Amino acid sequence: MTEQAELTRPRATARKLQVINPATGDPGKAYDPNTIEQGHAAAKAARAAFLQWRRTTFAERSRVIHKAAEILRAREDEFARLMTEEMGKTLDDGRAEVEKCAFHCDWFADHAQEYLADEAADIGGGEAFVTFNPIGIVLAVMPWNFPFWQVIRAAAPALMAGNGMLLKHASNVPGCAVAIEELLHQAGVPHDLFRTLLLQSSDVEALIKDDNIAAVTLTGSVPAGKSVATAAGSVLKKFVLELGGSDAYVVLEDADIEAAAKLAARARMVNGGQSCIAGKRFIVVRSIVDRFTDALVEEMRGYEMGDPTKEGTKLGPMVSAKARDEIHKQVEESVAKGAKLLLGGKVPERAGAWYPSTVLGDVRPGQPAHDEEVFGPVAAVIAAEDEADAIRVANDSEFGLGSGVMTADLDRGRRIAAEELEAGMSFVNENVRSDPRAPFGGVKHSGFGRECGAFGIHEFVNIKTVHVKALQHGAGSKVE
Ligand code: NAP
Repeated sequence: MTEQAELTRPRATARKLQVINPATGDPGKAYDPNTIEQGHAAAKAARAAFLQWRRTTFAERSRVIHKAAEILRAREDEFARLMTEEMGKTLDDGRAEVEKCAFHCDWFADHAQEYLADEAADIGGGEAFVTFNPIGIVLAVMPWNFPFWQVIRAAAPALMAGNGMLLKHASNVPGCAVAIEELLHQAGVPHDLFRTLLLQSSDVEALIKDDNIAAVTLTGSVPAGKSVATAAGSVLKKFVLELGGSDAYVVLEDADIEAAAKLAARARMVNGGQSCIAGKRFIVVRSIVDRFTDALVEEMRGYEMGDPTKEGTKLGPMVSAKARDEIHKQVEESVAKGAKLLLGGKVPERAGAWYPSTVLGDVRPGQPAHDEEVFGPVAAVIAAEDEADAIRVANDSEFGLGSGVMTADLDRGRRIAAEELEAGMSFVNENVRSDPRAPFGGVKHSGFGRECGAFGIHEFVNIKTVHVKALQHGAGSKVE
């Protein structure tokens, strides 16, 4: 029995991780947490497993990660139901999420080798090239909102690059965390190379400082990002942060209003509004703001609350009553400060963490719906004088994750998206999404670094320059 098999030992004093079904408020399964001592033991064992894994070929790793994709597809319904029980995602959305994870695994299984192929360099004389070595064990601290996708998004490229990973998932999705570990082991990822640790967030700092951890990736809120960056900075370790967003969509006067409103509602209601890249602020040129707002209210009305386990449900519960209360507080405060409540905005009298599809008009600076990230089904409409003013308002945010432009003029849209909007992703006439084939990440308080695509897989490798030359008398450079 390895040290790692001991991980199942319950923590003597800490509280269990208790699942609460967001649709009903009923308690579900409770999980024994791990101790930080178990975390350190897991880090040591992971490092040892990494020293073997880094010697495997891309073909061997690719077989394992393709197998993970196969298992994800075969167990799609089971994993989707787990997400519904733990964080309230609709079954339809859960199935789509599992399929996206499988696609991502297949993509990196097929493309990691070409992303990480040696690159020739010419530095004068002899042979020179750039090679990409794995860096070791990456600690992944992940959120509940896409409990499978966020983890697989980080894990598949890290494992394909030859790294190992320890997962500290959000404490409200322990079943998903354990299921991901189990499916990766079933696929053939060595037991100690990928482990789930049911730790408290207060244990993260100690694990970052463990010598067996090489780097950390966090997807989560700005405060968590600051804590992780501070801990990683104190020991000079690499980190990637995927944080919050308050994505702005600029709606120009030449846009088809019905189509723009449909797209806006779809962008806002991704995952019941609980997505970092959900459209949150719709900045509309004044000449069309009333017609756009009316159309948006009608579209948002179509997102009725319903049983997340039923097919076709468009809006399930929020993740928890606490999160729902926070959303409601932001709505009430926005209204108290002058926003117009045009739809929703009332907490329904029923058990569970329900909040209706909500639209706020006349949103202005000083209101939470304008200044903060609202992590729920609340669309904020902000009027702008013209294109330049709309761009100014869009950029007047602490965040810079996704952004969009809606216009009939594609050249105008391309220019604004490419040159004007301060965001990691800018989509024209489409809602922002992540995709394994293109880099994903933010600027400003939305984070550092990228996931996905070639840029993503390069975050956790040692980009090494190699120069090979025959030994000669009088060789060597005099300048650094
Ligand atoms: P969160 O509270 O920051 O939690 C995320 C993860 O960080 C959880 O595992 C949490 O553990 C841990 N954590 C919390 N505070 C920490 C600390 N001080 N030090 C170390 N770890 C800490 O975020 P959330 O409420 O779950 O997720 C919503 C936020 O994530 C939103 O702001 C959203 O926009 C952002 N997000 C960003 C992306 C992206 O790709 N940019 C994607 C999804 C979500 P516990 O659960 O144990 O507290």
